Amino acid sequence: ATGRIFNFAAGPATLPESVILKAQAELYNYHGSGMSIMEMSHRGKEFDAVIKKAESDLRLLLGISDDYAVLFLQGGATTQFAAVPLNLCAPGDSADFVVTGSWSDKAFKEAQKFCKANLIWSGKSEKYTKIPAFDDLKQNPDAKFLHICGNETIHGVEFKNYPSPSNKNALLVADMSSNFCSKPVDVSKFGLIYAGAQKNVGPSGVTIAIVRKDLIGNAQPITPVMLDYKIHADSASLYNTPPCFAIYICALVFEDLLEQGGLAGVEKKNQKKAGILYDTIDESNGYYVCPVEKSVRSLMNVPFTLKKSDLEKKFIEEAAKEGMVQLKGHRSVGGVRASIYNAMPFAGVEKLVAFMKDFQARHP
Ligand code: PMP
Repeated sequence: ATGRIFNFAAGPATLPESVILKAQAELYNYHGSGMSIMEMSHRGKEFDAVIKKAESDLRLLLGISDDYAVLFLQGGATTQFAAVPLNLCAPGDSADFVVTGSWSDKAFKEAQKFCKANLIWSGKSEKYTKIPAFDDLKQNPDAKFLHICGNETIHGVEFKNYPSPSNKNALLVADMSSNFCSKPVDVSKFGLIYAGAQKNVGPSGVTIAIVRKDLIGNAQPITPVMLDYKIHADSASLYNTPPCFAIYICALVFEDLLEQGGLAGVEKKNQKKAGILYDTIDESNGYYVCPVEKSVRSLMNVPFTLKKSDLEKKFIEEAAKEGMVQLKGHRSVGGVRASIYNAMPFAGVEKLVAFMKDFQARHP
């Protein structure tokens, strides 16, 4: 027995076992350098090779063209909520926000400090269970960008395709923190994609931004250097000391995803995992309930409640005793949430659905 358990946390989240083992094997003396990767200069040859490989492997995985810069940043996706309007808007410019859950709501609220942020759709009155029909979006003709959250980590609502900004000069901007690299994405549709690493591709500490190069260089004068994409693009993410260890782990994850054959296959595995979990919920005769509209249910974060809500605590405790942990829903919504990112094995979801059926039988 390895002692590893099934970790359904929303982030930081489970990472591929092979990546953890490789990092462990390389930790003490990285490639014969006599030190670990976290002890060495970010400007030395070993780390230079790591960050370059992280970037080139990510470019391969997502098919990112040379028209885009790939930046390894700090401050979490939360910092991007400010960096995006600071880089893409002059102070009076407007930008449109679609709010499908807590994270896009936070992005919208932060952006209000740095541009004229318009809320053009909100799913709040329907408890964030939907994605709008794109034809219904009343986009502002002068908006510089249209911001969406590709996958709402708390509410489990995921875009299955993407709206186009109605104004052809406007950009589509997406927070993909919780579904980054879970499926192929046509990057060319976006002006900017950003994602905190700690769900699908690494530990916390690094945030990846994929930015169309022609958008770089127009940041508002008040923009702190650490939030200015030009500063980071010009110095290949080495303007200051980057989160070296986090980037190293991301590089291992990208390598692993390529070895698995890339993101089309990864998406199929994710569909299969999410499929058996949603089926179990839907076939429970209302014992388990997922409120999210079927067509936009997340492949990554599966929130559900028990009809007998007083049993939820017991459900979470019993699951933990069987080696399935971190199933508690976000403190803002309660219930249960199973986060089943790329690195969650099929066996983990199989075990969870078997437990769910057994729990239902034992507590009718
Ligand atoms: N956006 C989404 C979709 C998230 O899930 C999270 C983190 N849970 C954030 C933004 C905020 O990320 P961070 O904690 O890295 O700032």
